[in-house]
Amino acid sequence: MSGYLSFKRFITPTFIMVIYFLGAVVITIGSILLMAFGAGIGGAAVGIILGFVMLILGNLAWRILCEYWVVQFRIYEEIASLNRRLGGTSPQATPPSNPPAPTTPTCPTCGGPLRYIQQYQRWYCDKEQKYA
Ligand SMILES: [Zn+2]
Repeated sequence: MSGYLSFKRFITPTFIMVIYFLGAVVITIGSILLMAFGAGIGGAAVGIILGFVMLILGNLAWRILCEYWVVQFRIYEEIASLNRRLGGTSPQATPPSNPPAPTTPTCPTCGGPLRYIQQYQRWYCDKEQKYA
């Protein structure tokens, strides 16, 4: 049910499949056209060879590219579902319960950060140039 509700899970691979199919059709038609009309490049044989190479390598490269694309989305989905299982990364999911304790105390008069002077063992305000 959660798979059905998460839109990307089903839409994206379908979208890639459609793109892959269209690309494969374009490559195949292009290859056939090259085989049919590629004779002008350097003779009928060259056109057929180029068309054939394009048909095989073009479809292969396109297939690999689309598979790589799908794999990228699978990895993304894995990370996304992992994040959901770990409690989510959305900002409202984990409100800061206790802010980190300030490492340096602030000046009682101006509120600026204080600097500890080891020599005098006192806190010094850089803003006002006086000891707190
Ligand atoms: Zn101050």
